[in-house]
Amino acid sequence: MPKDSYNPYENAQAQFDGVAEKLKLPLGTRDLLRQPQRELHFTIPVKMDDGSTQVFKAFRVLHNDARGPGKGGIRFHPHETADTVRALAMWMTWKCAVADIPLGGGKGGVICDPRTLSQAEQERICRGYVRRSFDVVGPLEDVPAPDVMTTNQHMIWMLDEYETIAREKSPGFITGKPVGAGGSLGRTEATGYGVVYVLRGLLGKMDIHPKKTTASIQGFGNVAEYAAKLYTALGGRVIAVSCWDAGDGTSYTYKKAGGIDAEELSGIKDKFSSIDKEKAEKLGYERLPGDDWLKQDVDILIPAALENQITPANFPLISRNVKIIAEAANGPVTPDCDPLIKERGIVMLPDFLANAGGVVCSYFEQVQCNMNYFWEKAEVLEKLESKMVNAFESVYVLARNEDLYMRDAAYIIAINRVSDAVKLRGWV
Ligand code: NAD
Repeated sequence: MPKDSYNPYENAQAQFDGVAEKLKLPLGTRDLLRQPQRELHFTIPVKMDDGSTQVFKAFRVLHNDARGPGKGGIRFHPHETADTVRALAMWMTWKCAVADIPLGGGKGGVICDPRTLSQAEQERICRGYVRRSFDVVGPLEDVPAPDVMTTNQHMIWMLDEYETIAREKSPGFITGKPVGAGGSLGRTEATGYGVVYVLRGLLGKMDIHPKKTTASIQGFGNVAEYAAKLYTALGGRVIAVSCWDAGDGTSYTYKKAGGIDAEELSGIKDKFSSIDKEKAEKLGYERLPGDDWLKQDVDILIPAALENQITPANFPLISRNVKIIAEAANGPVTPDCDPLIKERGIVMLPDFLANAGGVVCSYFEQVQCNMNYFWEKAEVLEKLESKMVNAFESVYVLARNEDLYMRDAAYIIAINRVSDAVKLRGWV
């Protein structure tokens, strides 16, 4: 059964329960951490351009803030549910904890489809979201960011509304803002580069030089593009990338035996991160079916597009030579596939470790905003690298010492850190 037919909150709770049992966490701690600390469900009435009023349902969930203010994006999606937001908030708590940044986990959502709304209607939703959630968000309370179908423009509208109500400048209220309007340099590169910092760390432990490796990547969006660029700069060869084609609604794999040129491909992609088929052909790329990225005879697979892409059904297509799967996307491997990956001895770099570069840089954005002093790009990337390398080291060492799958080791570290914090605060 495809994983997306499961309830994500039940899934997040089941993952937590498994680790809590391994850690023998006291029952009170388990009860506290297996559910959100706070939830706000509200409605946003919006005057539409045609004069009618439409009421949008919205959520802001704080899973846990024992380690610091909540942090997590706001999604605009027609199928948003309270349970999805709860699960994502919980995963944010673990992601911030494994990256060891002093933030908790939050998430928000509005049930709407921005593709069918005018800019003015979207602005009214953004401002309404802040007016109705003002009491539970803020730079020292819970810090939103962009997520699915929300952009840096939405963030600026929300910031403006927040500052209007607060009657003060408060640029650290929200992250994901454009550079020059409170955004951080390096944010564009952060997630993709973070994936490769972690991957390079793992290759080092395996005593393999990146130059001797090949990779195949699913997706060529923000994360995939910058992961491909840095991996190539380290000497690795990306044999294939797959991406969805906005023109015909199909996905394709683009392949070049000598390795793709990430700079060249980024020059021929559109705003939906679709690669131009004709131009790719002229540049000598072979065009294969979308799923072929998975079948390549490479050392490393980097799913960097969507959730639920590697499942027990397509796992047998993966080459026996694949040694590492680096989860750059969120949830690209279904939980029922983990046992197969373990059994084959493929090393897994789990999503909430591998793609934590995005939230680490968001944290840097917040810090820079709160100081009102912005760092050079090199400084941001240097600090990012240090955080990602340290996070990887602690997960790797635990996994090696206890003979654990890396996903389990990452969960153990994250949940331990949060349970220590709630204990220190005397909440349990
Ligand atoms: P994006 O929208 O920039 O790019 C997505 C890419 O996936 C595009 O190239 C698109 O063509 C491709 N794609 C979509 N459907 C596909 C399919 N069926 N087959 C092949 N390719 C397909 O998104 P992004 O920001 O790069 O995010 C990618 C993933 O990483 C998501 O899971 C996201 O949640 C996760 N993530 C992103 C960040 C970030 O900072 N951007 C941070 C953490 C996690």
